[in-house]
Formats: sequence, C-alpha cells, structure tokens
Amino acid sequence: MPKIDYLRISLIDKCNFRCQYCMPEVADLIYGLNQELLTNQEIISLIRDVFIPLGFTKFRLTGGEPLLRPGVVNLVREIYQLPETEDIALTTNAFLLEKLAQPLMDAGLKRINISLDSLIPETFDKIIGNRGKSRWQQTWQGILAAHEVGFDPLKLNVVVIPGLNDREVLNLAALSIDRNWHIRFIEFMPIGNPELFGDKAWIDSEDIRSQIRQKWGLAESNVTGNGPADVFKIPNAKGTLGFISQMSECFCDRCNRVRLSADGWLRPCLLNETGQIDLKTALRSGVDIAQLQNQISQLLLLKPEINFKERDSGTDGTYTRTMSQIGG
Ligand code: SAM
Ligand code: SF4
Repeated sequence: MPKIDYLRISLIDKCNFRCQYCMPEVADLIYGLNQELLTNQEIISLIRDVFIPLGFTKFRLTGGEPLLRPGVVNLVREIYQLPETEDIALTTNAFLLEKLAQPLMDAGLKRINISLDSLIPETFDKIIGNRGKSRWQQTWQGILAAHEVGFDPLKLNVVVIPGLNDREVLNLAALSIDRNWHIRFIEFMPIGNPELFGDKAWIDSEDIRSQIRQKWGLAESNVTGNGPADVFKIPNAKGTLGFISQMSECFCDRCNRVRLSADGWLRPCLLNETGQIDLKTALRSGVDIAQLQNQISQLLLLKPEINFKERDSGTDGTYTRTMSQIGG
C-alpha cells in the first residue's frame, strides 16, 4: 500500500461553468444545501495541525472552481510557507486564470492542471453549459498566461465523452508536440450526471491510445508522477500524454490520496461514500486535535478496504455529491 500523503482540498463547491459531466443544470439544487465552507484559517489549521503531523506533504486545491474562492492566492502562500509542504498544486478551468497566473506563481504554486475538453469554441461552450458569449477564448488566454509565467509542465485534463469531444482526441493530443504540455485523457466517471453516462459513456484509454498510435506512434514516457496517469509520448514530442483510466482499470492499490470537501468532510475514496469524517463540526466543537489525528489515522488504515474497486457502467448513480462538491 502506498504512503497516503496527498490531500486534495476543495475550496468551494460553486463553479462558473456547468460542465455536463460534472455539474449538469439539475445540480443547481446542490447550492440549496447552503453548507458553510471551512474558513481559510480552518483549512490552514487542519493542514498544519492535523494532516502534516500525519505525514501529508502534498496538497492540491480544487473545487468547484478554486479561483472563485476569495483569498485563494493568500491560501496558496500560507500552504507553501509551511515548512513540511513538498508540493502545492491547483486544478482550475482557467477562465479566471489570465490575471491570477502570475500572483499564484509568486505565492509559491508549483503546478497547475487545467481542464480543457475542446479546441472548438462551439463544442467547448456546449460541454461547459454556456449559452452566452463564447467562453473558449478567455479560457485559452488563461492557459497561455499560465504557460507564459512559467508553469512547466502545464497539464491539460480532457474528459472524453462519446458524441461530444471524442472526435477531437488527435487535435488535443497534438498540443503536446510543440510545447512541454502534458495532455491527460480522463475516462468519464458516473458521478454527477447519470443520464449523460447512459449505458457506457466512457471511452477506454486504450481506444484513445490506438487512435494516437495509428497517427504518430506512441512511446512509453520516462516521466512518472505520483498520480494515477499512465504516461506515454508521441515520438519526439516535447510534452507527454497521460491516461487516467479509473473506469477500465482499477488503480486503487496505487491510491495515495484523500479528499477534503469545501464543507469540511474528509473522504477516503472518490468513488465510495463510506467512512467520511465531518472535520468542520469536529473543529468547531473544539475536539481535541490528538483525538482527531487518531480518528483520521484509523480511517487511513481502513482506506484499502474502503477504496471502491468495482468498475462497471451499472453504477447505480446513488452518489449524493457531484465531482464539484467532492473536489475532483
Ligand atoms: N473546476 C476545476 C476544473 O474543472 O479543472 C476543478 C474541479 S473539477 C471537479 C476537477 C476535475 O474533475 C476536472 O479535470 C474535471 O474534468 C474532472 N471531472 C469532473 N467530473 C468528472 C466526471 N464525471 N468524470 C471524470 N472527470 C470528471
Ligand atoms: Fe466547474 Fe470544473 Fe466541474 Fe467544469 S469540471 S463544472 S469547471 S468544477
């Protein structure tokens, strides 16, 4: 079992996009929960006083859209300045990134992952649920700003959905040829939109790889991360291609992460709702920190059993939270 040392922190469950696979319009309901978010101070004290003593050293800020969180730059700075922090990263849709890329880098952000599912503005707007002026250009400007301030490598996440963006796989893969960009193809998970998921709404990574192999060839890459991606490369390309195949393959035995939702629930497995701990209530009721650490370390011991290992399209859609609420 790998060391569990990576915490993904959702800063906010709200988003300025409504990606069909993550936050379909019906999910507007979720804001009705109106849960109180952890404050910035609570996030820092959980990291410093609870997670770092338990051996956590890698942190990723996500959401919802983390750039909507007031004070996100200061939060990055505070996490970066904790002496034990080895890695601080962020996942964003890039819509607000153009102005924030430099301040985030100055605050100590080391790595950034950006979601980009299409290079065609109309398709992009359809996927993100935008009916007004296209949002593609501003998103692309955000991506270029991150590249220009020096986030290197830059990772772009693509969720491949049949009938929506599957025809663009080669064009998206080609982004890795001239720049050190890492394009990561993610299999769609049946969280958030069971209707869109249908019978089998994910495309196997192997199908995507074979399209790419036929066009350019595909070599194994010597770049390895601590994440779930299998990494390859178009021969002579500057960047790489990653495949996150949580539906067609099970990588639970490599899982080194837990998730903290914006309203303070600690979740040991993305695909299983068992075993969550309400850290916000614990903190606010003045629980003893040693007791909280103990409770979490017990949970971490159980994580291999909690990790959800079944993979099929028949998942019954009983997830009570969307990816944006869990902090995907
Ligand atoms: N708003 C930010 C963004 O889109 O990058 C951060 C949060 S988003 C929930 C994090 C990642 O989860 C994105 O890369 C998104 O594509 C992915 N995601 C959301 N719903 C998903 C689903 N049902 N299956 C697979 N990936 C999903
Ligand atoms: Fe928002 Fe990210 Fe979910 Fe899209 S994937 S709706 S950008 S949280």
